[in-house]
Parts: sequence; structure tokens; C-alpha cells
Amino acid sequence: MSFADLGLSDELLRAVADSGYGEPTPIQRGVIPSVLMGKDLVGIAQTGTGKTAGFVLPMIDILHHGRSRARMPRSMILEPTRELAAQVAENFEKYGKYHKLSMALLIGGVQMGDQVKALEKGVDVLIATPGRLMDLFGRGKILLNGCELLVIDEADRMLDMGFIPDIEEICSKLPKSRQTLLFSATMPPPIQKLAAKFLNDPKRVEATRPATANVNIEQRLVQVRPDKKKDALRDILRSAEFKNAIVFSNRKTTVRELASSLKRSGFAVGQIQGDMEQSERIAEFDRFKNDEINVLVASDVAARGLDVKGVSHVINFDVPWQPDDYIHRIGRTGRAGMTGIAITLATPADAEQVAAIEKLTGFKIARSGEKTAPAAEDREDREPREARPPRESREPRESRRPRRERKPRSEATESRAGPRAAPPPAPKSKAERKPNPPRREPQAEDDQDDGGWNGPMPSFLSIKAD
Ligand code: ADP
Ligand code: MG
Repeated sequence: MSFADLGLSDELLRAVADSGYGEPTPIQRGVIPSVLMGKDLVGIAQTGTGKTAGFVLPMIDILHHGRSRARMPRSMILEPTRELAAQVAENFEKYGKYHKLSMALLIGGVQMGDQVKALEKGVDVLIATPGRLMDLFGRGKILLNGCELLVIDEADRMLDMGFIPDIEEICSKLPKSRQTLLFSATMPPPIQKLAAKFLNDPKRVEATRPATANVNIEQRLVQVRPDKKKDALRDILRSAEFKNAIVFSNRKTTVRELASSLKRSGFAVGQIQGDMEQSERIAEFDRFKNDEINVLVASDVAARGLDVKGVSHVINFDVPWQPDDYIHRIGRTGRAGMTGIAITLATPADAEQVAAIEKLTGFKIARSGEKTAPAAEDREDREPREARPPRESREPRESRRPRRERKPRSEATESRAGPRAAPPPAPKSKAERKPNPPRREPQAEDDQDDGGWNGPMPSFLSIKAD
């Protein structure tokens, strides 16, 4: 299913195409048509699944009709933190670039003067944190009775931060006939109660985590000796079911090597790895998208956000070192309701990493291939040393791309929540994601132990396509 099937206007579709999204995420598919129909709705999906566009896109089309009046915002989006509010505002700017909608951002820690001026003129969308909103409302600077569409975003975090009473108060000041949307990653009882009280017969749209529970991806594990990995890969690429594949490797040196080896075997193959110029990477990715090549060998730098329709196979030539990377890699197939196959080549020495992946996904991957006994003597004589560098020689963790989860918690929260308001881990804000780790010194071509971590992540490959 494409964005065009969701009933959005041409201008919006253009803006969405400009932002580089190939297809709507599951939650977007579930949410957008109902919002356009004016229904109340509860949307439940993990962080990072695209909930923002799920409400911002239809809101732009809804608000396109009608005009704003002074001090009476026509719609309102409540966010728990100013960072999230700012991100939603960015989304409005990005998707609303072919529309003339006015917007005001009411967040703590920012001079109130400009925000009040914007409100005085009248806005189509008010994006606010509850604290600042109540503040202005209390001073009579804002009238809520013209607000016919309310979004309560990140409801579970609102709860963590003690904002539920504020939200109840805000809800009771809005017109009864409004449309209300509530989004949350989880639905603890207080949020269910809130929804029951302030939403009118809401439709419940739930999308599970893309890869972990994506039934559209058939996962397989091929057990193979290290020296037979390339043969196994070629067999897969020649199989009848094969259409096209992204082949992941842990190291850029392997990416290079594998790409040339497959080329010699007659495959139409390209590569994306960190030593390439960005323009070269874009060119390779385009060739893959345009079906000029049907095998793209990639390092993890390409795993996040690569959005190609109809990738039939994801092949892990190496078992990823980080279980999270497995999820990101296999998520390149089985998108938008299509089925996909994810095949991982695993040697006996990969047992530990495979176990970590299965623990994370809660899913035992079906095995095929030769029965490899991970006995000690088996390891010794079967596996040449260079097939896998000893742990110590790998690139130290810090020089890898930092992971979101470990980011410092810099989120500024509104003050009223009190001591129990320790914010949960900050979602990736634009500001947090942009800075790339400093690039390490260039390494010798034959350095096998650099972990292949390709330096800065090119922004065009980032899922944040703005
Ligand atoms: P959530 O609110 O569910 O945590 P966001 O709305 O912040 O998630 O979206 C997470 C990321 O996914 C953002 O970087 C956004 O730009 C990107 N994104 C949203 N929709 C799509 C899509 N259809 N295709 C690709 N990326 C998308
Ligand atoms: Mg969100």
C-alpha cells in the first residue's frame, strides 16, 4: 500500500515524496484513513514507528479547509516535552510546505512574547506542552473553545511525567463535538481510563514492532562452515524464489570483497559501505531501486532507513554483532504487507550472537544446512582464525555509531511534574541524531579488524529523512 491509497491530497503526497518515504508504516496505514474520516482514535505503536506523520498528515488536509480566528487555535497537539513538541512542529513544516497553515509552538523555556503574538493572530495548529498551555490559559491569552481537533501524543510519557490531571483539565475546556486522537507506545490503566473518559467511541489501531513481530518476514538460519559461506550465498541468490537482496556484512572490507566476488560470478551487484563518497552510495542505491542490479551488498551503515519497495531477501552474510542490528537489517524486507525472507548464515562460532538475537526477538529461527556441532575441537579445526577476529581486536565500542538508547538524557521537562518526573529515555530528536561521531583515522585497506564501522552515517540513509 502506498501513501496515495490513504486518501491524502496531492500536495501532501508531494511533500511526503519530497521527504523520501517510500511507503506508509503500519501505524500510518491504520491511522490516516480513520483520522480523515473524523473518527476518534487510539493509536498504539512502539517508539520510532512513525506515529507523528500518522496524525500530522491527515491533520494538514483536515485543516486545509477553514480559517483560524484570533486566540482560538483550531487544533491542538499536546506533547510531554518541548523536544517532542519541536519535532512535531518540524513535521508540520516539512509536510505542510505546500499548504498555508499557521502554527504556534507553546513550550517551556522559550520567551512567551512571540508565542503569544502568534496566538493573537490566530493559528490552525497549536503544539504545546501541558504546563505552558495551562499557564497561558490561566492568563486568558488563549481560548480553547474553537479547538475541534485534539491530539494527545506520547500519552504514556505524559503519565510518567504527571501530566494526566492537566490533560483532563484541558480536555474539559474543549468543545464536546471535537475529534480526539490519542497516541501511546503502551496502554497502562490510567491511559485507558483517560481514553474512555475523553474519547468518543474511539477506533483502536495497534501496530506491533516492525521486525520482532513482523509475520511477513520468514526468518531462516543456514548453518554453514566459514569457508562455505560464499557458496551458500550464491546458492541463495540462484534459488527460484530469489528476486533481489540486500546482503549485509559486518565489515566494509568484506562488503568490498564480496561485491567483487559476486560480480565475478556473474551477479548484477552493487555495494554500499562507509569508504564510498555519498554520491557514489546514492548512485548505487538508485541502481538497486531501479532494478539495474538486484544484489546490494551493504554494511550496517545502510541498514537504518533504507527504504526500497519489494526487497525479496535480506541476507546476513555475517551474523550481526549487535542483536538490534539484526532487527534493523531484516526490517528492510517484508515491508508494507509484502512478504520477505531473511536468511542468516551462521557458523558454529556465531552461536552466542544467534542466541542473543533470539532472546531479543523472542523467536527461535528455523535452522537448515549442515548440523554444526559447536564442540571445542570442532571449532579448532574447522574454523580458520582469520574468519573471525578475536574479540579484543575488534573496534572498541565507543568508536561505533552511538546507539540511541545510550544517549545522555538531555530532555528538558516542564517543571510541574515534580520529583517522579524523571523522563524516560529521550526518543531520537533531530538534534541528537545529526551529529556524527568523529571519523576515525583512515585505516589500511587490509585492516580486517576495524569492525567495518563506516564512520559517519550519511543522512540520506538515515530513517529521519529530512
Ligand atoms: P514515533 O512517534 O512513532 O516514535 P516518529 O513519528 O518520530 O515515530 O517517526 C520515527 C522516524 O521514522 C522519523 O525519523 C520519521 O521521519 C520516520 N518515518 C516516519 N514515517 C516514515 C515512513 N513512512 N517511511 C520512512 N520513515 C518514516
Ligand atoms: Mg512520537
